[in-house]
Amino acid sequence: MRKTLILLAVLGTSFYSMNAQKSEKDIIKKLEQKSDAYGIIAQNIWEFAEMGYQEKQSSGLLQQTLQDAGFTIKKGVADIPTAFIAEYGSGSPVIAIMGEFDALPGLSQKALSEKESAGAAAGHACGHHLFGTASTAAAISTKEWLEANKSKGTIRFYGTPAEEGGSGKVYMVREGLFNDVDIALHWHPGSQNAASAGAALANKSAKFRFHGISAHAAASPDKGRSALDGVEAMDMMINMMREHIPQEARIHYVITDGGKAPNVIPDFAEVYYYARHNRRDVVIEIFDRMVKAAEGAALGTGTTMDYEMIGGTHELLPNLTLQKVMHENLSEVGGMEYTAKEKAFADKIAKTLGQEKADLATAKNVQPYKTEAKAFGSTDVGDVSFTVPTVGFSTATWVPGTPAHSWQAVAAGGTSIGNKGMMIAAKTLTMTAIDLFKDKKLVASAKAEFLEKRGADFKYIPLLGDRAPALNYRY
Ligand SMILES: [Zn+2]
Repeated sequence: MRKTLILLAVLGTSFYSMNAQKSEKDIIKKLEQKSDAYGIIAQNIWEFAEMGYQEKQSSGLLQQTLQDAGFTIKKGVADIPTAFIAEYGSGSPVIAIMGEFDALPGLSQKALSEKESAGAAAGHACGHHLFGTASTAAAISTKEWLEANKSKGTIRFYGTPAEEGGSGKVYMVREGLFNDVDIALHWHPGSQNAASAGAALANKSAKFRFHGISAHAAASPDKGRSALDGVEAMDMMINMMREHIPQEARIHYVITDGGKAPNVIPDFAEVYYYARHNRRDVVIEIFDRMVKAAEGAALGTGTTMDYEMIGGTHELLPNLTLQKVMHENLSEVGGMEYTAKEKAFADKIAKTLGQEKADLATAKNVQPYKTEAKAFGSTDVGDVSFTVPTVGFSTATWVPGTPAHSWQAVAAGGTSIGNKGMMIAAKTLTMTAIDLFKDKKLVASAKAEFLEKRGADFKYIPLLGDRAPALNYRY
């Protein structure tokens, strides 16, 4: 009997799919065999390095991959050309896997251990090329499992653009595209393997535009009103305001237009602000005070002001029922071993981060499970997490110690280290999705926790209001 099985396997005859249920192990093995193919897809997106809402090629490549694997594609959803949903199967449960693919401006970098621009406008400093590809791989593997086992249920991949400041998922949530989803899965590239409870800061961002009157700055300054004065007065007030806001809050800004020449009083100036806190009600209050400061600044400088909401996201609502399952699966998959070549690269990167050598143990291990998390950044996954039970984790796609949004993150993400971390994520996502299809009780208890935590009188109000997707926010 054993010999027959081996022979059938060697001949490539799918004994299991004909005569028995295809096991999760077979599916994961098949996924592992496709590592190189997925690596090529990820590296293509890494090279495209397209910024938020401009991810035409990146989104297109993932759509094509899913379509070739038998998924039905709905593209251009929520009035966003690069947003899409790929679906396979029917009925419930509906399990969603999210994938991002946008790059960050100004962070172009070659896959080298020293800082050197690749000459592009942007770079994958948050590893979203790996994010989108691993999630695609997991959706396809889950589909293979559903198919082999003739299981009921729907697997969906959500192609979610412009996470970096564009709040892409918020528009998809606002459009109701997640309403019939039972559970949503995501992950994020990082510098360690961890599936502890996540946290994220709610945020609101806007561009404040001041309008003044141009005049010769030396010959007739009395005729002019400087729009830059408006911006500077606002910045001064906001910087004083920092003393009178909850200390966990964060406010940051860049002057995106401060005029063109010192001898011309600028009739236009613009400042781009973020406000963040781990509770969205606090963010809303701070933001309203920022608008007051802008109005005051305009009044005092004889300019006028208007502002455009750019982004707005909820904090993250963790689901510990799901988080535990994710942690178990990640632990089973485990971390990575570096090859000698990867180690040499990692040691050089580690030096640029002020470390003596790369921390190989962190790449190899999975962090102990924790139910408490401190939030530092923001993510539009927050809005999804207030719509359906949502669970995520991170893998060590970067050399341990690497901060996100750094050239070192772009560099490692362009190497086999990034690809290895991506495959850990793809396997963990697949195993968790299969668990959810197998176990109705797990889905039910995740939902019960979600409803209790969200509260009975919860009503979803997007922080960015009713604005249309900010498709040109990177121009
Ligand atoms: Zn990110």
